Amino acid sequence: MSSVVPAAGSRMPRASLALGLCLAWICFAWMLSACGERPSSAPQSRTSTAAAPEPAPILVIGLDGFEWSIAAPLVASGRMPHVEALLARGRGGKLQTFEPTISPAIWTSMATSKNPDEHGIHGFVREGAPGEAERLYDRRDRRCKALWSIFSDAGYAVRVIGWWVTWPAERVHGVMVAQTNALEDESIEGRMWKGRLRRDVPRQVHPPERQDELLAIAARAEAGLDALLNEVFGPLAIDPSSVGGRLWENSRWSLLADEIYRQVALHLAQKDGRADLSMIYFGGADVLGHRFWRFAYPEGFRDAPSEAERAQLGALLERYYVHLDRVIGELVAAWPRDSDVVLVSDHGMHGDFFDRRFEGTQPLQLLNSGAHADAPPGVFVAAGPSWQPSAVAFERTSFRARELDLEGRVHDLAPTLLALYEIPRGKDMRGSILYGALARGSELVGKVAEIPSHDAVPSAFGAEEDAVVDPAEAARLEQLRTLGYLGGELDPAAKKSAPKNGAKKDGEK
Ligand SMILES: [Zn+2]
Repeated sequence: MSSVVPAAGSRMPRASLALGLCLAWICFAWMLSACGERPSSAPQSRTSTAAAPEPAPILVIGLDGFEWSIAAPLVASGRMPHVEALLARGRGGKLQTFEPTISPAIWTSMATSKNPDEHGIHGFVREGAPGEAERLYDRRDRRCKALWSIFSDAGYAVRVIGWWVTWPAERVHGVMVAQTNALEDESIEGRMWKGRLRRDVPRQVHPPERQDELLAIAARAEAGLDALLNEVFGPLAIDPSSVGGRLWENSRWSLLADEIYRQVALHLAQKDGRADLSMIYFGGADVLGHRFWRFAYPEGFRDAPSEAERAQLGALLERYYVHLDRVIGELVAAWPRDSDVVLVSDHGMHGDFFDRRFEGTQPLQLLNSGAHADAPPGVFVAAGPSWQPSAVAFERTSFRARELDLEGRVHDLAPTLLALYEIPRGKDMRGSILYGALARGSELVGKVAEIPSHDAVPSAFGAEEDAVVDPAEAARLEQLRTLGYLGGELDPAAKKSAPKNGAKKDGEK
């Protein structure tokens, strides 16, 4: 592939150069597709023929609902040493998101740089025609290419694990482990599992011949879950019918999902070696934030937890952040040393429902005390050879969430990561390249090529129409209800029919 970023001092007129490079890029992508290049099970990364140095591998770690006001004090007190290390050698700040803060829509916007009206993923549930049953959005509802397809088309190896709305798994040049929500066999409240690889759900892994290999990893993660939770949270003897007990039982599926993704990521790093673009998602900070906010931060709640409840559950949220920090450290260590590491969250979290009574007999969604309905910004941390370290030297003990600046918007992630690999930005993308955050930023301004749309570039990868039915769909809908996403404060359908304040208060519907 030709370099799309000219060397400094190039004498070729910029406009014709940009045009030539765009054409070269489209031809290159087309040749790949015409050749019918297919990903192998362990793709080799493309070898660079241009003089430009080989771009660094990118490791994106997505942390749903990761909130600076929780993480920053932990960083300052030395309890998140791996996030601290990234901040010390790189940069960190806030990531502007959009409302409604519906995870599937935002994570898809990060991967496409499009708005929900454009990429087609508006929330969890697709409105059916009158009389038609509601159904969950899945990957086939996405109308445009995601980062992993664009990287695949450019010949780069990708590794995507657990990203929202990726089931059924898409063909990529590399490995795709789709996020699949499913129900455990004992179909009672509290047995919902998100992101779990299951034997009875088809098309969770690309290439399909690797599904069994990764299912074995998932089984191992599940077998070790109790030991892991004991290690992370200490022994928790909670009455399962109490408020805390029910919330805890209904968080396990999310913690299992994260553990599966952690083990799958480490397994693939060890077995497959380098991938050019890796994107790995963890949802536990969001789920525990919804469930346990009041126990960690009881101030302002009319129905504050008892001393005993606080002693038992008050540290749970922080302990999970500390665990996530360790996971981040493990992943960074498992990736090549020169990798560009990016942490992102789709939104922050805060306390909510301060006037609510919390009774063990209530429906689960009425027991949540954390929310993100009014879009607190997300988190952005980046470190590695391609990123410009923060202008102000990082000082751990004075690190404060409120002093962090806005680094960009969720839409900026895709074009910025494309720029690192000299892949043109699509003019139909809503985000901008974060030049100010890049080590070569000032050199690149005005020189990164653009094409009208990556969706117009023929692809050897991406969508594959097929009629796969998810047997666990009804269970997934119920899971979303318990988190308050359906008929609750985060349900766009509920918002449409109710004034904003009413809709928010009405998270219990
Ligand atoms: Zn989210």
